[in-house]
Amino acid sequence: MSQIPFVDLKTQQQAYWPEIEARMQSVLAHGQFILGPEVAELERALEAFCGGGVTAVGVSDGTTALQIAMMALGIQPGDEIITSPFTFIATAETISLLGAKPVFVDIDPLTFNLAPAGLESAISKRTRAIIPVSLYGQCSDMSAIAGIASAHRMTVIEDAAQSFGARQQGKHSCTLSLLATTSFFPSKPLGCFGDGGACFSTSPELAERMSRIRAHGQSSRYRHVEIGLNGRLDTLQAAILLAKLPHLAAEIAARERAAITYGELILAAGLERDGVVLPQIQSGNQSTWAQYTIRVPRRDTVRENLSGMGIPTAVHYPIPLHRQPIYANQFEGKHFPCAEAAAAEVLSLPMHPFLEHAVQERVINALRIALRA
Ligand SMILES: *Cc1c(COP(=O)(O)O)cnc(C)c1O
Repeated sequence: MSQIPFVDLKTQQQAYWPEIEARMQSVLAHGQFILGPEVAELERALEAFCGGGVTAVGVSDGTTALQIAMMALGIQPGDEIITSPFTFIATAETISLLGAKPVFVDIDPLTFNLAPAGLESAISKRTRAIIPVSLYGQCSDMSAIAGIASAHRMTVIEDAAQSFGARQQGKHSCTLSLLATTSFFPSKPLGCFGDGGACFSTSPELAERMSRIRAHGQSSRYRHVEIGLNGRLDTLQAAILLAKLPHLAAEIAARERAAITYGELILAAGLERDGVVLPQIQSGNQSTWAQYTIRVPRRDTVRENLSGMGIPTAVHYPIPLHRQPIYANQFEGKHFPCAEAAAAEVLSLPMHPFLEHAVQERVINALRIALRA
């Protein structure tokens, strides 16, 4: 049987090709490849999409976006920043890169996101910020986190790399905190054709500062007022995103329909009796469904069986951050049982806006066989 794609970027590219090509052609024609007019045009389009009065700053990728947001806050060596141990390495890596210390708080086992109940006991005199990660496309409990953060004069930075387009109580991800960052990595819900990202702030001053930092701390040409870096978004990537952004809402709706279909197929096949746990969306949340992630027993065996049947899957993420070789010494003896259990059990199934019903049936049929093999 033919191999099915985990994420189908080819079909997407074909579907929007005329708009994408026209946008790319116009960049090639004007030739302003660095901070050309499409970058500012995209920033205004991202702001209009999100609402909530945020300012957007296009940057080179989602990792640099986190670094720039923390630099704009003035994070110093020795500062502590609270985040989730169950995320992509970039969230903690950028904290360490700035000489600050990541402090982990365990996740909620249902949503896989930072559990606000664990925050208070992790706060110290040195805590400056909390970085909740909107994992798989669903925001953390942002109002609970904001309440604790403001009581302790700490800033919240949403790592929205997987959740651009998500909503909580009707408000968009990237508008729910003072600072937020996202990624336009090709396989993210809004992806470009290479690396890309954005920073967001509800404070125009912080947004202005982030926009300076991404361009070597420059206030005007060759005048440098603070330490920055080269973190600019390419004009070509901004142009591609301008062609793709108008389709994002429909794509998220298509992902949501695919998620509902997966749930129905899994229940109809009785796979809950085999130990499968469906994704849980907290009430008030609308996910981007960046990933459709279930829990399964004997995950690695099930995954191998699926692969043998031509079904690609992924594990986000197999090693919690406190167990990563780079952090193992720093967090020796520390346990985050919910993150550890999730790392052993999660399995992401093929998910994209062009997923066909027949393909989903094939995936769940194979999952039934894989679980019972
Ligand atoms: C993808 C991702 C990042 C990093 O984004 P890049 O654009 O690849 O640098 C950061 N955090 C999370 C949660 C991500 O999923």
